[in-house]
Amino acid sequence: MAVVVERDPSHCPNGHPLGPNQVTKGWLPCQCVEGATGHRTWYWRTCGVTMYEPPHEHVDKSQSTSLRRYRV
Ligand SMILES: [Zn+2]
Ligand SMILES: [Zn+2]
Repeated sequence: MAVVVERDPSHCPNGHPLGPNQVTKGWLPCQCVEGATGHRTWYWRTCGVTMYEPPHEHVDKSQSTSLRRYRV
């Protein structure tokens, strides 16, 4: 049985430390990474940066919009 160990980043790309009152941890359902159902996210309220684990690949926004629009 595989165990996934989540590693929190220690800093954002701008150098702000990860703190309980500065970072909102979340989950983004996404299919961009093969074998993964989404991304663990860290949103830095101090600078508005969001980090993704695994890294968020480029998503074609026009495609995802049309899928949402035409799904019945
Ligand atoms: Zn920051
Ligand atoms: Zn993604």
